[in-house]
Amino acid sequence: MPTVINWPAITAEAVHHLQALLRIDTTNPPGNELAAVEYLAGVLRVEGFEPIVLESAPQRGNVIARLKGDGSLPPLLLYNHLDVVPAEPQHWTHPPFSGDVADGFVWGRGALDMKNVTAMQLITLVLLKRNNIPLHRDVIFAATSDEEIDSDVGAEWLIKHHPDLVRAEYGLSEMGGHTLYLEGKKFYPIMAAEKGTCWLKIRARGQPGHGSVPHADHAVLHLVRAIDRLMAHPLPLHLTTTASTYVQRLARSVGGTTGLLLSAMLNPLLHDAALKAMPDRALADALHAIFHNTVSPNQLRAGYTANVIPSEAEAILDGRMLPGIDVEAFLAEVRPRLGEGIEITIEHTSPPLEVSSETPLFKLIEQQIARSDPGAIAVPYMMAGATDAKLFAQLGTQCYGFAPLKLQPATPFDGLIHGHDERVDLEAFAFGVQVLYETVHDFCARQ
Ligand SMILES: [Zn+2]
Repeated sequence: MPTVINWPAITAEAVHHLQALLRIDTTNPPGNELAAVEYLAGVLRVEGFEPIVLESAPQRGNVIARLKGDGSLPPLLLYNHLDVVPAEPQHWTHPPFSGDVADGFVWGRGALDMKNVTAMQLITLVLLKRNNIPLHRDVIFAATSDEEIDSDVGAEWLIKHHPDLVRAEYGLSEMGGHTLYLEGKKFYPIMAAEKGTCWLKIRARGQPGHGSVPHADHAVLHLVRAIDRLMAHPLPLHLTTTASTYVQRLARSVGGTTGLLLSAMLNPLLHDAALKAMPDRALADALHAIFHNTVSPNQLRAGYTANVIPSEAEAILDGRMLPGIDVEAFLAEVRPRLGEGIEITIEHTSPPLEVSSETPLFKLIEQQIARSDPGAIAVPYMMAGATDAKLFAQLGTQCYGFAPLKLQPATPFDGLIHGHDERVDLEAFAFGVQVLYETVHDFCARQ
């Protein structure tokens, strides 16, 4: 007999935990995630788990809990981060650490990124235990620190110091699983790939001199011309599996002009024209980012006073690399455009990541979405940014972004993550609580 679950009651419990987490200020920097770690450990202990609290730095830490399976299959990891980005309270309708429930939302910094997911994953683990579900796989819950900065005392620290606690075959976490509407069709993009980073410092040199007598060998001019050459045209097209599959599946479902343009995007000869013709510019920019390595000149530095020609000028370029591209290949695209005389220093890199969307877990997620939101289609997609997935990938874990939220076309979402008035829609969250549990249950339970 399948267990009957009282979803309204379970959702209320999840909302309660979400509110409690939102009321703990884990703004990073400085983080102070330990209070949230202790909260979770307390809940887990009450439910009969033996959570492991790992203090990685003063007031920072991680908590791991494991629900044992029969060991016939390797574990599934549910991981989340407890830190949040800073908030400017003067711009918020409800204070960012209030955890208020109002107007059908739970309000607070972290309501979408990603304490909502922490609460969903916690409830999933707790329910599996309460219902005595016999499991093939261990289910591991890991709440970590420091994702918003560099994971030094969070996921990175964990895989370095306690890899056996979090080693798993698959992982589920943020950045995927929320509704996308396109031409009246409904999709759930599931993150299966993310781009790597390659931040560069570029420097031009020239002759110093008096500002009243400008000359051609001017460091600032050399720098801005180099940036202009670099940005004048997109870097070359790369058709990765994930981005191609994503666009193919969107194209197959939406007809009309958008469908044609999406299909054309997969033809190297038509790609640029199709991208240019997309009426939705935000979508076009997002698609551009998953088909090309990109560079964004985000910081400039030159000169110290108005009447002196500086001898050098610098820029920081935020470079992003597609799966399959390494730093060498990335520089091979960037360097010739910058031209002679521009010095390049690598400031920071992290590798790109791509996981197959042909795995049993991905197939199950597809079925789950089709069942939970009839008419909707799960599609693999690539994120232009970066998450902790690439860290857990170092242990061989195949990670997907799957934090289900069922959004209505008008549900506020875009712009709230890292923005003002971050809040999660209660119905969207209720859907997520149930869908995540059912997915994990069906993947891990012994039938
Ligand atoms: Zn996040």
